[in-house]
Amino acid sequence: MRNVLITGASRGIGAETARLFAAQGDNVIINYFRSNAAAETLCREINSAGHKAVTFRADVSDSHETAAMFAYAEQCFGGVDVLVNNAGIAQTKLFTDITDDDWQRMISTNLSSVFYCCRAALPYMIRKHCGRIINVSSMWGQIGGSCEVHYSAAKAGIIGLTKALAKEEGLSGITVNCIAPGVIRTDMTANLSEEDFAALADETPTGTIGTPADAAKAILFLASPDSSFITGQVLSVSGGFVV
Ligand code: NAP
Repeated sequence: MRNVLITGASRGIGAETARLFAAQGDNVIINYFRSNAAAETLCREINSAGHKAVTFRADVSDSHETAAMFAYAEQCFGGVDVLVNNAGIAQTKLFTDITDDDWQRMISTNLSSVFYCCRAALPYMIRKHCGRIINVSSMWGQIGGSCEVHYSAAKAGIIGLTKALAKEEGLSGITVNCIAPGVIRTDMTANLSEEDFAALADETPTGTIGTPADAAKAILFLASPDSSFITGQVLSVSGGFVV
């Protein structure tokens, strides 16, 4: 049984990831920011199924709130064995319309958060000489998304952070990988119409749109003993949209 902290686990990919880790017997720390009710409902669902979950409200773009979350995880479970940096926001805007505030919010929520959480999680993992970090990037971090330049830049930053940190922590028994999802049906893509989804599915080799479970299962694989010789990698979960 491991202790798994998932950022942004109140909804979407993060919530499904929390469900799957809990179902295999791991303790789960459900981080949320605004969706208190959804996080508490998920926590009750997991605990009433006989597994162990706790919630913690923290804005992961804030290093102090993030540090408090890891202190709470240590108090509850002793430390975090698996860190899933999943929390994220999206915004569609012409590059020339992106304001300083848009840029800061995007970079701090989607990239600085990964730095804060990894930094807070690592001392315990290094002491134990084992640990897993899985970061959630995006296919736009690999290939760039028009009208999502700040999002793409933050997600590309996650890939660079993942590769460099994997090299630094390999001898400490810690693997660091990321997944790069394609189009997944969640609140984040709720602005897309059914026609948009159909067009995107047409462009995808599998002819399908991804589900939160598709992304969550890839995360679970990268946290499992089966992936112990895999580090610094970007696993595309996009139905072949990015090959
Ligand atoms: P979602 O349904 O919109 O959920 C986003 C989650 O992030 C929510 O739980 C939200 O928590 C949390 N969050 C946002 N800002 C936060 C903050 N400052 N502090 C803590 N938590 C915060 O999105 P999703 O589709 O599941 O996306 C999850 C991850 O996958 C994101 O990193 C996203 O960029 C990435 N991704 C998604 C897709 C896709 O097509 N859906 C594709 C590629 C990559 P609250 O609601 O509690 O605030």
